[in-house]
This record gives sequence, C-alpha cells and structure tokens, in this order.
Amino acid sequence: MTRAVIVKATVNTEKPVITLKPGNDVKTEITISVGEDYVEPGYTCEDNVDGDCTELVLKDYENFDPFTIGVHTIKYSYTDSNDNVGEVYRVVEVVEGTEDDRDKTMNYYDSNLPEYNVEENYLPNIPTNYRDRREGSEIKAVVVHWTAAPNQLAINTRQHFVNVDNVSSNYIIGPTGKILSIVPNDKTAYCNGGTAYDELLGKRVPVYTELVYDKFVSEEGYLRHNDYTISIETNPIDSDGNFSNETYTALVRLTADLLIEYGLTVEEGVYRHHDFTSKDCPRVFTNPEDAFQYTRDENNKLIAVTPKSKNAMWEQFKNDVAKAMNR
Ligand SMILES: [Zn+2]
Repeated sequence: MTRAVIVKATVNTEKPVITLKPGNDVKTEITISVGEDYVEPGYTCEDNVDGDCTELVLKDYENFDPFTIGVHTIKYSYTDSNDNVGEVYRVVEVVEGTEDDRDKTMNYYDSNLPEYNVEENYLPNIPTNYRDRREGSEIKAVVVHWTAAPNQLAINTRQHFVNVDNVSSNYIIGPTGKILSIVPNDKTAYCNGGTAYDELLGKRVPVYTELVYDKFVSEEGYLRHNDYTISIETNPIDSDGNFSNETYTALVRLTADLLIEYGLTVEEGVYRHHDFTSKDCPRVFTNPEDAFQYTRDENNKLIAVTPKSKNAMWEQFKNDVAKAMNR
C-alpha cells in the first residue's frame, strides 16, 4: 500500500524591506561638505521568510563621490532566498565646505593676503639648468611640487638648483609666499621626471604614468613631460608637507593666473608631480597608498600606477584655484 504525500508549495513574492535610518519618512537625505567622511547612519532589513537580513544588505557606492559637489545616491539592496529584490536609495548631497570647517592656520587660501609679486632671478642659462622648449611645444599643464625642505627660503632653493644638474623649475615659492621666477616660462625646466629601481634590469629606469604617455608625448612619440608644462616648486613648513597660508595662497593665485594665461582649465590643466610618476609630490596633496606604485605594461616596461584615490587637500586646492581664477 502506498500513500502519496502532496506538498503544496506556496510561492513567496514578498520583497525584503530595507529601512534607512533615521527613518524613510523622516529624512534620509544627508548633506556633507566636500571631502568630509561619510558616516553611515544605519539601516535595517526584514524579510518575511529570511527574517532579519540587515547584515546581508549590499551597499553600492558607484554613484557616490564625496569629493564632487552635487547630489549623489547610495544604493542598498538585498535579494531574499526566493529571489525577491528589495532596494532603497539614500540621497547624499555634497556641498562646498563652510569656512568654519577648515583649519585656517595652514594650507588655507586667505583672499585677504596681499597679491603676490614675482621676482625674476633666472638660473645661469646653461643646458644643465634649462633649455629651449622643443619645437611644437605648447603649454598643456601647470605642475605643482614640493621641495621637501621645510622653511627653506626661495633664494636658497634657487641656489640648490644652481648646484645640482638637470633639476630645476620655472618658479619657486618660499615659506613667506615669496615667488621667484628662476626659469623663464618660454624655457623648459627639469622638474616632472621620475625613476624607480627595476629589478629585472638591475638599475633605475624612468617611470611615468599612463597620463604622461597619453598626453605629454610629441607626435613622434617622445616624452614631453617637461616641454609641455610650467612647473612650480613650493617649500613647506614641516616634513608632512604642510604649507603656510602665504605659500598656499601664492600657489593658488600663481596657478590660477598661469591657467588663464595659457587658456587652460582646472580640470585638464593642473597636475601634481604625483600624477606623472606616483611620487609623493607634493606630499600634502597625496595619499600614502598611492605613492611609489609601479606595474609593468605588456612589454614588461615598468610604469607608474595612476593615483586611484582622491586626496581631500588636492581637491580643495583645485576648488581654490577655480575661485582665484575669478578674483
Ligand atoms: Zn616634484
């Protein structure tokens, strides 16, 4: 004798419910200042079959960038054991930082400081200091640097460049905000290069990021990272690379004025040495995890890794330059 047991399956079509704190019907929109850390206010997830699924919620940050002013969304989703999908979005508005949020004692664009003067004090005109810009060289970018020499006066940095070969810059800004022009703008200074030790070859070799190979090469394929750029060296006030407000403000304004002079934009026309070689230059505008990172291309050539994360100080600097272009 057999007995048939029939199990009736009921199809569960109920979606999991994700509730954002402080509450969907109160306020899920969050406002933060540019570069500010986003702090997750919390959420819960309940499913009629799976129960509490809070720990299993996936958060998607693809449309969220704390460094870009505007309205962004974070997506929260959970797919239950019957493949029902519950999803909600949190709106995060990123706004310009208020003055009060910022440390005004350093690295601060102080629009009340007097306008800068540039003193011309060119290096001796010999090929180890600078050269003519190579034929067809147009200025494509302003590149900023730090000297890693805390509180060194601009005049002493100039002397350092006299003493060493094949290292120079168009400008130096000292800790008081003093600006020296040491290589004329229409000449090529030697500032934006980089090398790293290649274990396969057993020696140091030049290293550059994709940016340099894409944008700073001649039609014949030669690297023009110095010929296509104006370089600015800055002296910090400490070994972390912080700048006095005088140095920072002079750097903001000089960069802004050079962008205007050469018809460049903040988005496309201002870079760090870091963007060219992954070196930590200027240190205060870089993140340690992005510094001195190298990989190999398909020909086994060592190339510098393009910085991946955004640095809040660098984003602030570019915002300040944009502001100074309208002063
Ligand atoms: Zn540099």
